[in-house]
Amino acid sequence: MITAIIVCGGKGLRAGFGFNKLLKPLDGVTPFEKCLSAFISSGVVDEFVVVCSKEDESKFREICLKLNADCVFAEGKGSRSDSVLSGLKKATGNVVVIHDGARPFVSEDLIKRCVLSAEKFGSGIAAIPATDTICDAEDGQNITASYREGKYFVQTPQAFDATLLKKAFDNAKKDEVFTDESGLFAKYVAPCKLVKGETTNKKLTYAEDFSVGNLFAGTGFDLHKLEKGRKLILGGIEIPHDKGLLGHSDADVLLHAIMDALLSSASLRDIGYYFPDTDEKYSGISSALLLKETLELIKKSGYKPKNVTAVIMAQKPKLSPYMEKIKQNLSSLLDLPISSVGLSCTTLEGIGTVGREEGIAVQSYVLTEKLN
Ligand code: MG
Repeated sequence: MITAIIVCGGKGLRAGFGFNKLLKPLDGVTPFEKCLSAFISSGVVDEFVVVCSKEDESKFREICLKLNADCVFAEGKGSRSDSVLSGLKKATGNVVVIHDGARPFVSEDLIKRCVLSAEKFGSGIAAIPATDTICDAEDGQNITASYREGKYFVQTPQAFDATLLKKAFDNAKKDEVFTDESGLFAKYVAPCKLVKGETTNKKLTYAEDFSVGNLFAGTGFDLHKLEKGRKLILGGIEIPHDKGLLGHSDADVLLHAIMDALLSSASLRDIGYYFPDTDEKYSGISSALLLKETLELIKKSGYKPKNVTAVIMAQKPKLSPYMEKIKQNLSSLLDLPISSVGLSCTTLEGIGTVGREEGIAVQSYVLTEKLN
């Protein structure tokens, strides 16, 4: 008989939602529901124990009901160890598989492999090799040693022989602190059996972690006329040419298309609405300033750029020598890494308005991320 203990006791203070983060929908489904679904469909679990605070219990119960899972509830305590122990006391299985409710991307396969390992060896702990170097800095200021070889990041599920885990809890000293049960078991029973974890089995800690999949696409197009005696500004960079773009502002057609794409991703109005060409204060203004205001506008609605792309259509001048410089400037104006900015240019083979050098056009596509 296998019991899953899903730990949902944390207040999730670091996520800053003001309520249990495991009840915050992620792509429309709460992390707790995702966890419970994975455990149900793994097909290896006979009993579910949910550890949570008394005040959250009714909300977690609703989700169990929705998934037709007959869950037992245990009260979450101050520390993780105490919460797990509280769940363990309600568990009747001979194997228990403990899981953090904050790891909703756990796979059925990983659950099965941990349980199988516990049945065979007494324990099965999901862990992945450390990809960053880990150091000792006890005082938070001086690094005294660093390692990577032989180090692992420990995840959950962590499955144990229930009797052996209870023994470990019985033997542990009252004030002893363990970040999870693998440390407790290794100290008081035996080394834990490592089960190859999954990099996708991420833990949701901060508010940003909840933005997974919360991406919005936007598109923008602009065309400005080329005229003698005007400066040619593209992406905030002045390009030497005998003609420049005509407009109420500096007529930076590239930034205009990007601004419209950003606004459309956030389902806002277009730049003509926010920065009308009838308003004197925008006369001759640098479009870089308008982009700054646009970023503020979308930020107020909870969006930030994730990826920005644009294609500049110009017959002349030849833009390729300036592309890297423009791209770098876009990356700095948008506060995005250069790898998140995509920029290309093309002529229109002498065809149409752009081909006849009457103007320059830009098409932009963006992705923004909604954070709340
Ligand atoms: Mg324009």
